[in-house]
Amino acid sequence: MHEYPVVALKPGREKPVRQRHPWVFSGAIASISEDAADGAIVDLCDAQGAFLARGYLNRRSQIQVRLLTWDAAETIDAAFWRSRLQAAIAMRRALPEVRGCTALRLVNAESDYLPGLTVDRLGDFLVLQAGTLGVEQRKQMLAELLLELTGCQGVVERSDMAARRLEGLPTASGPLAGEPPPELIEVVEDGLIFVVNLLHGQKTGFYSDQRANRRRVAAYCAGKRVLNAFSYTGAFGLHALRSGAAHVVNIDSSAPALELAEANLRRNGFDPDRHAENIAGDVFQVLRDWQADPERRYDVVILDPPKFAHNQAAMERALRGYKEINRLALGLLSPGGVLATFSCSGLVSAELFQKVVFSAAIDAGRDVQILETLRQSADHPVALTFPEGEYLKGLIVRAAHAPREAHA
Ligand code: SAH
Repeated sequence: MHEYPVVALKPGREKPVRQRHPWVFSGAIASISEDAADGAIVDLCDAQGAFLARGYLNRRSQIQVRLLTWDAAETIDAAFWRSRLQAAIAMRRALPEVRGCTALRLVNAESDYLPGLTVDRLGDFLVLQAGTLGVEQRKQMLAELLLELTGCQGVVERSDMAARRLEGLPTASGPLAGEPPPELIEVVEDGLIFVVNLLHGQKTGFYSDQRANRRRVAAYCAGKRVLNAFSYTGAFGLHALRSGAAHVVNIDSSAPALELAEANLRRNGFDPDRHAENIAGDVFQVLRDWQADPERRYDVVILDPPKFAHNQAAMERALRGYKEINRLALGLLSPGGVLATFSCSGLVSAELFQKVVFSAAIDAGRDVQILETLRQSADHPVALTFPEGEYLKGLIVRAAHAPREAHA
């Protein structure tokens, strides 16, 4: 059996480790053996020197050890990574939610017991994000294993998330293994076709975490006028049209995303001029401008903003942002209209998000009922040992009457 360098915990700090939380913060650590290189595998021991778990080290991160196994007999070798990847892939193969979809998350990092590693499958390509030094050092090996296990054509890296800085890593993106992808590829979600730019699209190119919610929201859209704010490439809008929406307005600040939204409409047989309006602009500004325009009233409004709260320091501003867009969206909602509103900030709990929507409703003068509570799709599971993995939450609410001012 392999001997690994040792990281020792301070006395009394082993409880979260025993409960299989995968993170060990610097404050819990008493000592790190000098022969342990950053990125290397280490054994985590209690203050008495007894084995607790095994993971990889990064002194530069607040989270100095990310745990991989609690089994002293499990060596972290190629067979280990292979079996973890296989388990993650097998879970998706058996998942009813993703059936017939070619855009899905294959590996969801800590929640698939592979800290720091995120992998999306998009058609015949994989998009890998290395969130930590431990994964960074092994990304080539992991990419090749993934190719072998999935039979995909190539792996592209999109490690361009801000969180890499916390690990002391620069951003990195580009082809990693196998064939480089063409400029644009197509993926299928519920029979709808989406054009995706793997190298230059946002995040990994397609937001598969909203798949289940696109279905839920589309069910309210038959015959309705739909406003899809923060539309990206128009996925919520296309689902709505396919479910019989009368008209969809997409708003996004990214012109390239809206070009793909237009391509997606055509690709699925919708005439962008007849069925949709794609507006490049700031949602805050556009929704504000429309408050006074009675033509700009919608039966269904979708709000799927980017992450506003990146850390605790940004929290207050983020909450003000969420409240403002929700207030503005409620102002444009026709009587009996439905708002589907989301937050993908992990720091904003579902409970807090509901409070924000509540205060937006008070300010908008609307009586609002919750119809459905939403979360990230099932291919983005949350390990019970890692509640931090829950980040996307949403509400479908209904505003019964016109704003109160309107009754006066
Ligand atoms: N609903 C989309 C994903 C949205 S991601 C889907 O289902 O695929 C968030 C989007 O918000 C991004 O496309 C980003 O370009 C856009 N965005 C960010 N800030 C914005 C702003 N202030 N106004 C308009 N769009 C914005």
